[in-house]
Amino acid sequence: MSKFELNSMTLEELKNYMVSIGEKSYRGEQVFTYFNRHKNLELDSLNQLPKELKIKIKEKAKVNTIEIYKRFDSKIDSTKKYLFLLEDKNIIESVFMQYKHGNSVCISTQVGCKMGCMFCASTKEGLIRNLTPAEMLNQVYMIEKDTNETISNIVLMGSGEPLDNYDNVLKFINIIHDEKGHNLSLRNITLSTCGVVPKIYDLAKENLPITLSISLHSPFDDERSKIMPIARRYSLEELMRACKFYGDSTNRRLTFEYTLIENVNDGEKELNELSRLLKGINAHVNLIPLNPIEEYKEERPNREHIERFQKGLLKRNIPATIRREMGSDISASCGQLRRSITDKE
Ligand code: SAH
Repeated sequence: MSKFELNSMTLEELKNYMVSIGEKSYRGEQVFTYFNRHKNLELDSLNQLPKELKIKIKEKAKVNTIEIYKRFDSKIDSTKKYLFLLEDKNIIESVFMQYKHGNSVCISTQVGCKMGCMFCASTKEGLIRNLTPAEMLNQVYMIEKDTNETISNIVLMGSGEPLDNYDNVLKFINIIHDEKGHNLSLRNITLSTCGVVPKIYDLAKENLPITLSISLHSPFDDERSKIMPIARRYSLEELMRACKFYGDSTNRRLTFEYTLIENVNDGEKELNELSRLLKGINAHVNLIPLNPIEEYKEERPNREHIERFQKGLLKRNIPATIRREMGSDISASCGQLRRSITDKE
């Protein structure tokens, strides 16, 4: 039988676990703060814990670790991109970015992805597996230790579809937010999804003040279906109804990501339809210039055109920003970095 991961457990689970093996529940809290506040994963060095208890725990449980495989440092800003090696030798990527408002990391939630978006490098080999809560936490903690910085913002926007790994992602959020651990504000967490409608309702019902970000990329069902297979499952009407429900139940502004692809989704008709679609929703549009990948032979519009599209949204009273490209010299994003390595090695 494979051992379960101690550092994938919430505080409550760890306390219950200790009680279930005949220990006092405060032992669970000691282990939890050791992992999540002190970012220490060496159970043997946790001196508060009696030796016999450690032996007992290690019979059935283990501590997940990941290691830095490669790090790429930008020369134009302080962005760092990481490739991490998991215990089973899979590789995932994460990004560290510094902004005026604090330090942010973009983390992966799956190895690979099954959503199949045409322009995305993460999905080209399908889904390999879900990441555990500990593997998500470890991306944050390893980057904090490596940079000697504290992370205040997390975006679940790396490889994978977070809502396709729902339970583990929710556990990750619960753990990183716990005041006995990292104590990271829920308001500083953004979850990005291609639009898995039933899971958006589930998430709304959790009533967490995190920011939900929807990868929209087109306001037309037929056009969206051509670039995002999920659009064949859930129509824009269903998606927007779920978004409205999310906004109404959490009182949070939603973000809509819109990757601009030249002559595909960057015209006047998209602007008009977008403003119709987003009417009545507290929304913000984040425009992302396409990062071209080999399998998808399209380009990004030029800068002037991108700015024109943004102005078009602003004129229609839709708040819109253009995604600043951090660490553009170390290129690659959205699974491209991992891919450039796994292809070679
Ligand atoms: N599966 C989630 C999160 C991961 S993708 C989602 O779909 O939202 C994070 C964002 O990057 C999404 O908006 C995605 O559409 C976008 N993206 C992926 N590949 C891209 C590329 N090559 N160029 C620009 N944006 C890309």
